[in-house]
Amino acid sequence: MKYADVIVDISAEQLDRHFQYRIPAALENSVYPGVQVEIPFGAGNKVIRGYVMQITNQPDYDPKKIKDIRSLCERSETVESRMMELAVWIRKTYGCTMLQALRTVLPIRQKTERHIKKKIVRTAEKEEILSRIQEERRKNHRARERFLCYVLEHEEAEYSSCIKELKLNAGILKAFEKEGVVRIVDATASVPMKISGMHRDMPILTAEQVKTLTEIREEWERQEPRPVLLQGITGSGKTMLYMHLIEQTLREGRQAILLVPEIALTYQNVERFCQCFQDKVAILHSRLSAGEKAQQFERARNGSASIMIGPRSALFAPFPNLGLIIVDEEQETSYHSEKTPRYHARETAVERGRLEKAHVVLGSATPSLEAAWRCEQGLYKKVELNSRYGRHGLPTVYITDMREELKSGNRSVFSRQLLTSLRECLDRKEQALLFLNRRGYAGFISCRMCGYVIKCPHCDVSMTMHRDGRLVCHYCGRSKSPVNVCPSCGSPYISAFRAGTQQIEEMLHREFPEARILRMDMDTTRHKNDHEEIIRTFGEHKADILIGTQMIVKGHDFPEVTLVGVLAADMSLFSADYRSAERTFQLLTQAIGRAGRAEKAGCAVIQTYHPEHYAIEAAAVQDYGQFYQQEIGYRELMGYPPASSLLAIHVSFTDADRLDMAMTYLKRFLERITQKAEVQIIGPADEAVAKINDMYRRAIYIKGKDEQLLKILREQTEHYIEINKGFEAMYIQYDLNA
Ligand code: ADP
Ligand code: ZN
Ligand code: ZN
Repeated sequence: MKYADVIVDISAEQLDRHFQYRIPAALENSVYPGVQVEIPFGAGNKVIRGYVMQITNQPDYDPKKIKDIRSLCERSETVESRMMELAVWIRKTYGCTMLQALRTVLPIRQKTERHIKKKIVRTAEKEEILSRIQEERRKNHRARERFLCYVLEHEEAEYSSCIKELKLNAGILKAFEKEGVVRIVDATASVPMKISGMHRDMPILTAEQVKTLTEIREEWERQEPRPVLLQGITGSGKTMLYMHLIEQTLREGRQAILLVPEIALTYQNVERFCQCFQDKVAILHSRLSAGEKAQQFERARNGSASIMIGPRSALFAPFPNLGLIIVDEEQETSYHSEKTPRYHARETAVERGRLEKAHVVLGSATPSLEAAWRCEQGLYKKVELNSRYGRHGLPTVYITDMREELKSGNRSVFSRQLLTSLRECLDRKEQALLFLNRRGYAGFISCRMCGYVIKCPHCDVSMTMHRDGRLVCHYCGRSKSPVNVCPSCGSPYISAFRAGTQQIEEMLHREFPEARILRMDMDTTRHKNDHEEIIRTFGEHKADILIGTQMIVKGHDFPEVTLVGVLAADMSLFSADYRSAERTFQLLTQAIGRAGRAEKAGCAVIQTYHPEHYAIEAAAVQDYGQFYQQEIGYRELMGYPPASSLLAIHVSFTDADRLDMAMTYLKRFLERITQKAEVQIIGPADEAVAKINDMYRRAIYIKGKDEQLLKILREQTEHYIEINKGFEAMYIQYDLNA
């Protein structure tokens, strides 16, 4: 006998309140989580509608008292039922309970949140935090390390319970806020977004922009319009096109969603839309309390707003007649949710578009491999914008080979080309940005003589050094003993890759005693407003050189900067991740784009031990196609997404031995159920950070061509873990193609 847990009230805080019904034999094959059914309800057996949340074999109470489901409902065309369908898809794709999926697509007020006064919101990128963790660990700052580990795991946290749980003092949190790691926000205060009164007309488009817009409209007129990838270099006017597309959508009486990475959610960006569309715009951002977010969603539901702008949760705005979803900077990692279900907003946007027959536009200067690959397969339509609006062309790019520098006796971190370019830049009284790329934190081992990097032969990603000196692969868990001489050229200059912004500043002072130098890193941003102060000072040209990590590359526009130096491009190239080349290409393209953005021509110097690497060569000439061809070849060869699918099973627990035992059993189970399947099981292995907050962390990966099969394997794994005592109290997360 099978039973279904049915919820009857989907509107408010009642989601976890369900009623159990028996599934009659005739309906056994057609009742599944998410389906709408008619049920006799209450003492009078009044027939009402409800949604099935879960199916079990276990009656909650005396089976004689359990009533039968009456019938299935016809597929209805309400927003609610479409959101339910989306939840079903999320559950099947990413792995979670129906309740978790429903909570994701119906972001409603939750009771407990009303009492929250302050909350902590992570603002730094995960890679940045990972490298800080290592730094604090070295300095033995226990409390700071503890907090960083916590922030790594939680995008948002409640203030007072976090302080209590981690035994911190408020000063530490304040310091991190000043350093730009977190923001502490009042979760109850209302922060209304001010809208400028002046109404602006639609911008007049350039000839190229008009042509691209026409191509998009042609796609929309097809029988089955495909999602569109708008690939346009920075400053080519993608935002202008978004405005035109949104305007058309509103004219047709439909509504639009614009997803932006949180980092881009600055006032200036949003203001353009507000000026154009006035009070039709609803905005979500992390400073809003749960109640205010609910208000914005209510405006979408009741028709007082027609455009929702925000980070990934804005995707779930309950518009009655959604016509368009735009995902700006679709390659950004912040679209990947870190909470279960770990959905990807870009993929989910495409699915919501399909369910609602809404158009989907993905915008990027450096598209994700996923989006580009689907264009190639004919699943998406690609359109392009290739010229910048009224600006100079590309900067001149120099790639300097650091192996050659060493051979000719230059042991400094600056190449001769960079020094020359800096000298010229200073002589012209212009400004320079020096960028120390710390995405993908230090830890890999390389040879300064020949550039050789130690990689796992099975996974082709860099191995990283553990504290005991062993080299470990974070995909398959294989390890090997430390090396003292380069296996390729025999030189002794083989070691972990390290360079700090402070040493670089000192060396720069020695080279250019007259230059005014600013440094932006964790040490120089300890005090209140330091961060803004540095940006402002540099923006007013009160300094000549700004040194910093990737935080100086994103988001800020300095018109006087004519030189960008990338000190060690390899740092992100060899992070222990199959996406490291993609990230490097994106980052370098962004960095190069920072040079000579206004009236002055610019130049960029990229220092590397791997000048021949395709990610670096392609970034230098800003040739996405060239990069893509190489990268997709690598993904195909190694069976990484998007060429193949990759399911990650992350498990963490306080007891390392019990965790390892559970992982061994899990691996055996997976091997057993996949004997005849075309999949590869990899691991178990330590995660990149193997222990956080006293929780040990391991992962198993499953690679396979057939995504559907991986979803089935995940469901079987969920079931195995559920019935297995060995996994009790362990924390489990799944990632599909992350
Ligand atoms: P992207 O989003 O591709 O980086 P934007 O749409 O932000 O580019 O455009 C870059 C800059 O060029 C903006 O300052 C914008 O105002 C200007 N711009 C682009 N196209 C036009 C246009 N057709 N008319 C006026 N200004 C434009
Ligand atoms: Zn070597
Ligand atoms: Zn490996």
